[in-house]
Amino acid sequence: MNAESIRVRGLVQGVGFRPTVWRLARACGLVGDVLNDGAGVLIRVQADDRQTIDRFCERLRAECPPLARIESIERTPLAAGLETDAFAILASAATEVQTGIVADAATCPDCAAEILDPTDRRYRYPFTNCTHCGPRLSIVRGIPYDRAWTSMAVFPMCPVCAGEYANPADRRFHAQPNACPDCGPRVWLTDAEGRELDPAGFGAVDAIAAASRLLAEGRILAIKGIGGFHLACDAANAAAVAELRRRKRRFGKPFALMARDLETIRAVCRVTDADAALLESPAAPILLLDMRAPRSGEDGQVSRCPSDATALAPEIAPGQTTLGFMLPYSPLHRLLLADWARPLVMTSGNLSEEPQCIDNLDAAKRLSPLADFSLLHDRAIVNRVDDSVVRVMAGAPRLLRRARGYAPSPIRLPPGFADAPPILAFGGELKNTLCLARDGQAILSQHLGDLEDARTAREYEATLALYLELFQHRPRLLAVDLHPDYRSSLLGRDWAARADLPLVGVQHHHAHLASALADNGWPLEAGPVLGILLDGLGYGDDGTLWGGEFLAADYRDYRRIGHLKPVPLPGGTQAILEPWRSLYAQLEYARGWDEMQARYPHLSLVRRLDEKPLGVLRILMERGLNAPPSSSAGRLFDAVAATLGLGGERVTYEGQAAIELEAAASRAMETAGPGYPFATLATPSATVLDAAPLWDALFDDLTQGVASDRIAARFHLGFSAALVDVGLELAARNGLDTVALSGGVFQNRLLLESVADGFSAAGLRVLMQQQVPANDGGLSLGQACVAAAQSLPASSRQP
Ligand SMILES: [Zn+2]
Ligand SMILES: [Zn+2]
Repeated sequence: MNAESIRVRGLVQGVGFRPTVWRLARACGLVGDVLNDGAGVLIRVQADDRQTIDRFCERLRAECPPLARIESIERTPLAAGLETDAFAILASAATEVQTGIVADAATCPDCAAEILDPTDRRYRYPFTNCTHCGPRLSIVRGIPYDRAWTSMAVFPMCPVCAGEYANPADRRFHAQPNACPDCGPRVWLTDAEGRELDPAGFGAVDAIAAASRLLAEGRILAIKGIGGFHLACDAANAAAVAELRRRKRRFGKPFALMARDLETIRAVCRVTDADAALLESPAAPILLLDMRAPRSGEDGQVSRCPSDATALAPEIAPGQTTLGFMLPYSPLHRLLLADWARPLVMTSGNLSEEPQCIDNLDAAKRLSPLADFSLLHDRAIVNRVDDSVVRVMAGAPRLLRRARGYAPSPIRLPPGFADAPPILAFGGELKNTLCLARDGQAILSQHLGDLEDARTAREYEATLALYLELFQHRPRLLAVDLHPDYRSSLLGRDWAARADLPLVGVQHHHAHLASALADNGWPLEAGPVLGILLDGLGYGDDGTLWGGEFLAADYRDYRRIGHLKPVPLPGGTQAILEPWRSLYAQLEYARGWDEMQARYPHLSLVRRLDEKPLGVLRILMERGLNAPPSSSAGRLFDAVAATLGLGGERVTYEGQAAIELEAAASRAMETAGPGYPFATLATPSATVLDAAPLWDALFDDLTQGVASDRIAARFHLGFSAALVDVGLELAARNGLDTVALSGGVFQNRLLLESVADGFSAAGLRVLMQQQVPANDGGLSLGQACVAAAQSLPASSRQP
């Protein structure tokens, strides 16, 4: 007789793992039991021979439930046999259980089939879910993760649902949000005044069918989903799309789209097999896809499709060559889109810049001016969880926004971090996330957003409290950005003072670099790398604003060995909003504005710029008043974009000018000719990369009437080449063979791919972000790693 204890580690709680164990154990003829505990799942089995247990373990890996992730299976022989002749699921001691809070998951194929089957009791039921799918993080209020601590607590299960919930052989065994039309939440339709409407009045079978008809008539609807509200309209109805932009006061930023199936997406975008797998994954993110045959032209409008029925409104994504698509990820969305052969706009339900609505009352206030009708339901959204955004770049999917479907899945920290004390990292200011690190793993919150918004800042504090509770996290060490005024930094410093805890201030770009290292499993003691960190702005350790940095660094420490030449931001934050200010500053610092004016008097760009209050800006810059010097790469992109009129007089969303510049460049990369030149200047401490020579070449191109797309491409080519040249030189001089690329500017696919290719071709190893955004959404992970590294005994190797 063979008896063994089998320890399974990984993402194995709250994902239907125990019933799978139960089913497989019985199928293999094993007796014993299974339970959840603080380390994962513990199984005890007994069989006549060892091979039976081998087979059971093989099947456990092969038939692992869709949302589970097995990290390890450890087998230990038991000295004594088990006193049982059956296999049982044992209740877990609640105090010992690490919570099984997993990410919200898109509708599984079984549930999708049920809602379309007229004979099924869940036919057309929009809250159908099971252990393999459905809401999780978005409905949880506390632990332990069971129904009482979710927003499903107010819906007592009917006997049939309770039977499913209690039966280990059922797909709904312990599915906390289990529900049916008899006992679960309901959906209804209201007009803009909040009056409930009878679907029969629209000749529809139910509220969802009525909503679908209203969308087809060109109406704008607020739709309550899994982690928040969307505003929806017919993506092919130009008038509806334009009206939605006007009401939402969102003018440039692309709208996300939802399509019924891959075929509908393929009508407008190129979709590879890897793209399709991502779109259909349980995370069901928004995936940025290349439009089919983008029209090469100056107006950058969305291309017309072969079939008129799928011709999208040009205002969906002005100036872009990509579209953001997702598939329906809840039963409600599936039913809504069932009849749609073309995409719907599904943009977050908010006014521009505010966080999206999650609550019916809040939606009535904030969304009724924006929507003609609302499709509401009575399952409360406890936590706002935005749609995640993914882009495939340099051969791998890379998260640009990590929220629904991904958070709060743990990220395993690289070797060396297991002994660090429990850490809480507060993140940055924009695109904020927070991070809890303990026992060699990091829990990163969902994307919370811009803390400059008071509503988001309140949500941030509530989310922080929830995460500490959900993961029973008692931080012993805190980490914040060095910026003196970030709300997250203020909160962290306050917390440290009140709780008498040590606080580590982490330099912004060092955090970006550490985030990239951790994302790639770079061990704590693996030694220093060359980091190239490009972003908008981050607070430097010399009190100036950084954003185009070459660091020689490991997790503990860094040296700034190179950077872009600092140029003032005339007007401070105004310079971020108005790209022409960066252009003026660049020109003033490169050749002097007077000389540019004398050399290129005929250029309309020069005449346009001359109408601006340049005299005032010059005084600001000369006297150093509200014109902080910055080595920002983001502002360099702004300046180049401004020469082409991209981003407009004033950008309407963060990164707009750079994003439009990339789109323009992508139309001409093959035919652009040589890249623009840069200069380098070696100082005793650092190599300075100077953009001055590029302006001469670019203005000569403008004079000769070279097309905008080619100018944009020549800038990308020149900048990438300069980064690689300086990077290779710095790597050689400092004995580094690995380069890590991070910062929001590396969300630019052309730049990321050409820089990565350049280093790979020279034999360097290249690390890029993947599971965690390269933008400020990844900062908290980096902060946690730097704080952890500094708390652990120092190695002998220094960067
Ligand atoms: Zn399901
Ligand atoms: Zn029921």
